[in-house]
Amino acid sequence: MKSLWDDAEAARFGGPLGPRVYTSRLLGRDKSLVLHGGGNTSVKLRERNLFGEDEDVLYVKGSGWDLETIEPAGFTPVALGHVRRLAGLRSLPDPQMVNELNTHMLRAGAPSPSVETILHAILPHPYVDHTHADAVLAVSNAPQGDKRIRDIYGERVVVIPYIMAGFDLAAHCAREFPKQATGNCIGMVLLSHGIFSFGADARESYERMIELVSMAEEYLQKKRAWHFKLPHTQPAHAKREEIAQLRRVIADQAGMPLILKTNENEKFMGFARHPDIERLSQKGPATPDHVIRTKPLPMLGRDVTGYAKKYREYFERQAPHAKDKKTMLDAAPRMVLDPQLGFAAAGRTARDAAIVEDLYDHTIDVILRAEALGGWRAVSERDLFDIEYWDLEQAKLRKAGSPPVFTGEVALVTGAASGIGKACVESFLARGAAVIALDVNPAIETLWPRVDVLGATCDLTDAKAIESSLDRGVRRFGGIDMLVLNAGIFPSSQPIQEIAAQTWKGTMAVNVEANLMLMQRCHPLLKLALRGGRIVVIGSKNVPAPGPGAAAYSASKAALNQLARVAALEWANDGIRINSLHPNAVYDTALWTDEVLASRAKAYNLTVEQYRKNNLLKQEVSSRDVAELAAEMCGPLFAKTTAAQVPVDGGNERVV
Ligand SMILES: [Zn+2]
Repeated sequence: MKSLWDDAEAARFGGPLGPRVYTSRLLGRDKSLVLHGGGNTSVKLRERNLFGEDEDVLYVKGSGWDLETIEPAGFTPVALGHVRRLAGLRSLPDPQMVNELNTHMLRAGAPSPSVETILHAILPHPYVDHTHADAVLAVSNAPQGDKRIRDIYGERVVVIPYIMAGFDLAAHCAREFPKQATGNCIGMVLLSHGIFSFGADARESYERMIELVSMAEEYLQKKRAWHFKLPHTQPAHAKREEIAQLRRVIADQAGMPLILKTNENEKFMGFARHPDIERLSQKGPATPDHVIRTKPLPMLGRDVTGYAKKYREYFERQAPHAKDKKTMLDAAPRMVLDPQLGFAAAGRTARDAAIVEDLYDHTIDVILRAEALGGWRAVSERDLFDIEYWDLEQAKLRKAGSPPVFTGEVALVTGAASGIGKACVESFLARGAAVIALDVNPAIETLWPRVDVLGATCDLTDAKAIESSLDRGVRRFGGIDMLVLNAGIFPSSQPIQEIAAQTWKGTMAVNVEANLMLMQRCHPLLKLALRGGRIVVIGSKNVPAPGPGAAAYSASKAALNQLARVAALEWANDGIRINSLHPNAVYDTALWTDEVLASRAKAYNLTVEQYRKNNLLKQEVSSRDVAELAAEMCGPLFAKTTAAQVPVDGGNERVV
């Protein structure tokens, strides 16, 4: 492991917290040290208060911040003296500990300080860094991990047995640290949990972390446990219906829609097909705090009922040992290892699923390296239960409000790179959905650089392109629950006698046939949507009220409208509802340049301003107006509505 320290870069981080922010980010950059909110750092500063008195302040990572992207505002100042005294109490229930930490913050509105704050307070050094380094976990989760850690580090670290994070661990460390620490001590290893380093300044503490973790890595190399082999396999390319089916069964068990992200890369596929997978995968996570996101064990294969039964038994075995009454969480797996699928991660959001995948990617490293040292072990089931059902976590669940309406659901939007399609993507994202955004314009690929959007270039008249986009979308999110048929073309105005056959065919190909192909291929997926499949057709005012010069366009939209009505009849039994919107005069789209607008306005003897609002309500209709209605039509307000045609045009005399 290499130090990433760079003097020039470090110099850019000014202010009293600058160096603390910089090295925290360096830790965050290395995924084999910390992952997704794991790990934390702190600094002890002396500050003058309003009365001119000097106070000791502990700035510690606040919850909700990631080390990789942390800012000064992500560090919560707490009264160091008070927090240190807490460690001396004989006992302190964790919810009360959190209350003490939260009531001794020195900045209103700062994030809640890390639950490991007391640990930072009791270590005497100004800078403290804490990670869940893969290499340290691999060694400490091998047979005689305790002895191995002592062999590697000697007097350089204090070694603490596994105790769940929270007050008990902090109090234990407060007693043990002074007893064990010698003048050579630069860190502390918490077995099966992680490692601390500390120092007089940010760089010293950081470099010591790198040094300590490197020593564990070298140990693994020396023991020939660093490189591991997995059976060489080819991806199986499971059918997308199989993936969607699995997602549905998991969602049924969880009682809510979930994103299911599959990954059949060599590592996941090789691990899923490992001859010893049963033993390797069924012991527990690399470090117990993963359990909150991953549940204790992955599901092997696709028997969700069997998994849930085992999970219930685990709860019933462990709950009676807990200090207070626990409420069982849903029994659905969050991780799947399957010889055909590779690895699949389930999460409430695309981000949650991506985090689960990252965690297990690193867990495989830890498992296989510990295995090479003589046998992978995890902490006991009791310890895992204690974390999964920790008061603090259960309290968070009770407090969590209701998530956005489409959380865990997937929408596919066509023509998504501009205008109404682009606005639809935004409207569905705002309601918590993950979105597969298709457009013939390759700009779609980078329009939304975020985990909950898959932007794919797709010519909808090309069946193969549709197939591959759907395959990618389903591998990324697990299925399709909502479909917004927006892509369309508007050929230039022509009287009927002048329409070329090519124009007619081209318009029909995009506005009708492409939608038919997409609907046909999405049908098996929509059928599996937990809340029923939903389709919204972006139609046109031209359907109820066609205009001269737009025969190809009007006829194509009318055909699409009729297709939607028949789909409403045929697919109602599958729980799929399909509704149409008829927008008119939406001018903030790519079709309408200033010139076109000016010439159209002139043709009607209106100013551009009058032309824009030329409807009964005298209101301009924007892409966003249409998109918001499209999203609402997929929501609970329209749950009992199918085959509706709703104008969104500010009111039009001819439609009325
Ligand atoms: Zn930790």
